[in-house]
Amino acid sequence: MTHAQDRALPRAVRQAMPMARDVLVEVAKLHGVCIRPIPLKRLDVVTGKSEIIDVPCGATLDSKCPPCAKRNKQLRKAQCREGWHLDAEPTITPDEANEEQRWLVEFRADIQAQRETAEKAGEDTTELDAIITGLDEEINAAGMRGNVLGRTASKRSRSTKRRQDAPDLPKRKMTNTTLGRTFQGTDGKTYRPSLFVTLTLPSYGKVRDGAPIDPDSYDYRRAARDALHFSKLVDRFVQNLRRVAGYDVQYFAAVEPQKRLAPHLHMAIRGTLPRAEIKQIAAATYHQVWWPQADEVLFEGEHMPVWQDGTGYLNPATGEVLPTWDQALDALDEDAEPLHVIRFGEQVDVQGVLAGTPDADQCIRYLSKYLTKSIGDALDGGQAQQQHAARMLDALRYEPCSPTCPNWLRYGIQPKDAKPGMHPGRCRGKAHKPEHLGYAGRRILVSRKWSNKTLAEHKQDRRTWVLEALGQADEPTDPHRYVWRPVPAGDANVPPLAVRLLRSVHERQRWRAHLRDLEARAAGQDLSATEDIGRAA
Ligand SMILES: [Zn+2]
Ligand SMILES: [Zn+2]
Repeated sequence: MTHAQDRALPRAVRQAMPMARDVLVEVAKLHGVCIRPIPLKRLDVVTGKSEIIDVPCGATLDSKCPPCAKRNKQLRKAQCREGWHLDAEPTITPDEANEEQRWLVEFRADIQAQRETAEKAGEDTTELDAIITGLDEEINAAGMRGNVLGRTASKRSRSTKRRQDAPDLPKRKMTNTTLGRTFQGTDGKTYRPSLFVTLTLPSYGKVRDGAPIDPDSYDYRRAARDALHFSKLVDRFVQNLRRVAGYDVQYFAAVEPQKRLAPHLHMAIRGTLPRAEIKQIAAATYHQVWWPQADEVLFEGEHMPVWQDGTGYLNPATGEVLPTWDQALDALDEDAEPLHVIRFGEQVDVQGVLAGTPDADQCIRYLSKYLTKSIGDALDGGQAQQQHAARMLDALRYEPCSPTCPNWLRYGIQPKDAKPGMHPGRCRGKAHKPEHLGYAGRRILVSRKWSNKTLAEHKQDRRTWVLEALGQADEPTDPHRYVWRPVPAGDANVPPLAVRLLRSVHERQRWRAHLRDLEARAAGQDLSATEDIGRAA
């Protein structure tokens, strides 16, 4: 063997070996350990000691952290089950902000400050924006209402409200309850029926295996706009549903991708209405998008509006200032047409479900089936479907996703909060991304009076259960004992990710071993408890 070969061998071996870090991530996943933990500094005000604690990322929408996504799915299932067939009015009292909520808000404030500094320095804020969006979702999930900035957006009460014509639907007198009717069976038993409803968007052209048969005639523009405004349509459906039902209908819904890459909705509804009425409501529900026109391209290629400090965007040829977002809205007069009108398709599925039946369990499983997948993840139909997704992305590229979308410049309007450096087709909004395909809203929609518990409380339930199984008391910690602080990126006190993952895996193994010990001592106990550790810890 020559010297050269000697040296070549280890390199070849090294290249064939999976990266140690990749293996570690796989091991962490197997143990249900968060693979993207957020380090936070926790100061114990009693002992004065501070330490770095890894908090699970709590990924809800994406599958970038499969263990957290999986754990969330379990929690959502519990939440869905809890509220569906309630037989007593839930008591909704805003709880005092708990520890988790407090650090989320503090953390959010800090990231917001970082974002502002970065923006002033002209740096890329994409990453920070993504964190802020994620945190806002977490803050809501932690049981707080609204968003921490409050309602800063000036509410335009102008004609836009009046223009949402009320659909022609029967209307019952409103009663102050969230519970559905019950029925007495001949056996004297009380039955509490509920509904499981599936709502779908209309057809944009015939599809086979998730791809259009004739891509040229498939209505991509409509598909794109429907996806962008889908959540508004769902809101309208709920409003109409409550009006017709005559009580404060509660729901737990999941927005999921169809094979043709359009969002659709599964909704568990507390209480029951005649099937025909649900279909009537779905058919009558629509939402009008009162935005300026976005059909006539005024600027493209090299011919782009130019920014002038203190003025805004100008027409490059004439030097004229382009209308601002508010001016463009004000210009929508009585004769204006909405930019888009969205309705459901004809496919409406309504299923009656009784509390505690296998049917109910089946529906709950169905509701959470795709939660760990993004809308774009419905792709599995091969090349035709890949091309379909690419065409859908093309259609979304120049559609304005929100009033602040840079795409408005293409149609001759200054986006809301216009700033230098905006380019049509380069919006970083979630809706334009392949994983979201137009739908940037929340995947799980839960009405306020669904159950007595917030997601955070469900988390707490599970933790308590596991600690009891371990024979440890889950003593409530003094809410003022710890002060949480974000750790700046690159802080030398935070060990490398690999080290932290190893620690978490080790901790998890220790718990499991401890649990197995307990089980060995109390023979005959249910072994399934072991699995719960992974989700709860
Ligand atoms: Zn995670
Ligand atoms: Zn956009």
